[in-house]
Amino acid sequence: MATALTTTPRLLENYIGGRWTPAASRERIDVENPATGEVLARVPLSGADELDAAVKAAREALPAWRAVSVLERARRLFALREALSQRHEELARSVTAEMGKTLVDARAEVARAIEMVECACAVPTTMQGRILEDVSRNVDCETVRQPVGVCAAIVPFNFPAMVPMWFLPFAIACGNTFVLKPSEQVPITQQIVFEVLDGLGLPPGVVNLLNGGRRLGEAMLDHSGIDAISFVGSASVARLVYERAARTGKRVQALGGAKNHIVVMPDAAIDEAVAGIIGSAFGAAGQRCMAGSVVVTVAGAHERLMAKLITAAEQLRIGDGMQESTDVGPLVSEAAGERICSWIERAAAGGARVVLDGREGVAARGASFVGPTILDGVTPEMEVAQEEIFGPVLGVIAVATLDDAIAVVNASRFGNGTSIFTESGAAVRRYRHDVQAGMIGVNIGVAAPVACFPFSGWKDSFFGDLHAHGGDAIDFFTRKKTVTSRYFSGADGSGPYFVER
Ligand code: NAD
Repeated sequence: MATALTTTPRLLENYIGGRWTPAASRERIDVENPATGEVLARVPLSGADELDAAVKAAREALPAWRAVSVLERARRLFALREALSQRHEELARSVTAEMGKTLVDARAEVARAIEMVECACAVPTTMQGRILEDVSRNVDCETVRQPVGVCAAIVPFNFPAMVPMWFLPFAIACGNTFVLKPSEQVPITQQIVFEVLDGLGLPPGVVNLLNGGRRLGEAMLDHSGIDAISFVGSASVARLVYERAARTGKRVQALGGAKNHIVVMPDAAIDEAVAGIIGSAFGAAGQRCMAGSVVVTVAGAHERLMAKLITAAEQLRIGDGMQESTDVGPLVSEAAGERICSWIERAAAGGARVVLDGREGVAARGASFVGPTILDGVTPEMEVAQEEIFGPVLGVIAVATLDDAIAVVNASRFGNGTSIFTESGAAVRRYRHDVQAGMIGVNIGVAAPVACFPFSGWKDSFFGDLHAHGGDAIDFFTRKKTVTSRYFSGADGSGPYFVER
């Protein structure tokens, strides 16, 4: 499907120590627009030398950046917020071009990225410590927060603008310096973000961008000059990141994959439930860590839901995300499309009923265009009910009671997000209390990240303890130091309090 190239695609560069720097590595891969096959850029796969240079720059920048007043650091984030807002549409178009999601979705992603920066601007308040007088006679105790050091993030392909902003603004707000490795599949949007950062006049080395793939990621895990790693990606890599980075004593938060259930109760507002499920399962072609991928219908909900759900899914328009009329864009690559098709085949062979078959989109438009697919008659034992598919494929499991539904959800090895559709407060209370997942939606299809709250899953969806953004970001990107103090002069309240010089 590749279109003829009229110009040589540009070779992306790294940003190290305040300068755009060509990668030394000769290894590079094409970044393709998944809707058109056009090669948008070539991305170098940087190696150990580039990593050393970025970490050295970040470490050298650390003392001076930490000494910049916290109010001034916040001012730089206000400027970042303004500059990103001015390039909102350009960033959204870049996300659509390299990742495939629709422009509406990409604009919303960039808005969420900007909200992260807004939230980090509160650092003069959020980074405050605590003090307690008189923990003993004439003795006071205080806790202050200090930066952790050189922090780094390794991020996935599905949110090229937002996920890096879960970490970067909070890290530098707290006085750390930063090294970012975007996904090699979608490295272009962060080139724009780093152009913006370059224009802010931050001291060289405060933020650094390294392009590369798995080899660079592994080198980051092992590098003794990095103090903290934030990772977002698939569950198997998240587990590996958590174990491997800990070997060099790093602080780690590793957000992994998901299998999110949407429970529909018999009393649900059914049209609203359908709209919520459609957006959750098929938005971004199912390539969201919060995508609903299994609907669990309770008792009569199945009959009320299914016809409406299938009709609504059939009406979604598949196409290039750049067209405003498109509802579902392509998968990130043809390889991803082929993987999804093989999942549908295996599910059907395993006994699921394909009541809506998205493989027709592939026949019409090409391998990356798998359309919305609905599998009814799924059982919890099926592989398709257990593993992350990361495409527009929705399984439906029918159960008799809310207890059964909770048992299905809690049997999953994942625990990222889950939603319940019901008008019953009692059912919601029970669900919220007993379900094992980090993010819960009540009559909300996607319990999307809210910048001022922590975001992450449980079980195999997350390795670590401090979640992304919100108050947890300040805890992750600072070290606490507790000081206990007393002074002997004037201990009995009679002075003297100073000595004349
Ligand atoms: P991935 O795990 O393949 O890659 C993620 C990043 O890790 C990339 O930058 C990649 O280059 C790097 N990487 C790959 N192997 C590595 C290794 N051995 N060591 C170090 N780094 C390595 O994930 P992906 O396909 O880019 O993204 C999709 C996955 O991300 C899905 O599983 C999705 O659920 C998950 N995700 C989770 C969240 C969340 O909040 N939990 C958010 C977005 C995406």
